[in-house]
Amino acid sequence: MKFFILEIPLKPIEISKIVYKHRDCLGCGTRPLGRVGSVAIKLTSRQQYSKIIWGGGLFALENVFTELEKAKILGWRKGFLEVSASKKMDSLTTNFSELIVIGKTKNFAQANDLKVEIDCKICGFRKYAPPVHGFDIPEECWDGSDIFYVDELPGIPIVSEDTKAFFESNIDFNVTMYPTKKWVPPYP
Ligand SMILES: [Zn+2]
Repeated sequence: MKFFILEIPLKPIEISKIVYKHRDCLGCGTRPLGRVGSVAIKLTSRQQYSKIIWGGGLFALENVFTELEKAKILGWRKGFLEVSASKKMDSLTTNFSELIVIGKTKNFAQANDLKVEIDCKICGFRKYAPPVHGFDIPEECWDGSDIFYVDELPGIPIVSEDTKAFFESNIDFNVTMYPTKKWVPPYP
């Protein structure tokens, strides 16, 4: 099975509300972040329009959820999103909800032999060095979802071949996908 990184072009949307919970740890000094509650966004230009946008989360137009269901794409649920928009936007283009990715992997770090960088005995936080020359997802690590996150690589949505075909079927999705084998860490 081949998997692909899903890239959503950044749109200059305004995030009007986003709340993170902080967990300070005296052991490792890191503050793992978790988001609390839903997000609020403001759309101010027609240029921000595409079927899926990114801004502190994945947001999709109402008809995307129907299409995902019809195509039997699994690994997501719909979440509440507060949207406001300037008068330039019409109601058709502001009908967004959050696309919450719930698909996941297990034992990815072991399968890819990733080195542990931080292993905190106090808070349990563990950080792995990212894979340098792309990565594979052995099927035994995969929960079978068509769209999912890898815990060890936070914030990078990954899709199956079926999902790739689904997104390619309509140019309005305006997303790009490339094989996980070609992934390079976006940070040093
Ligand atoms: Zn810690």
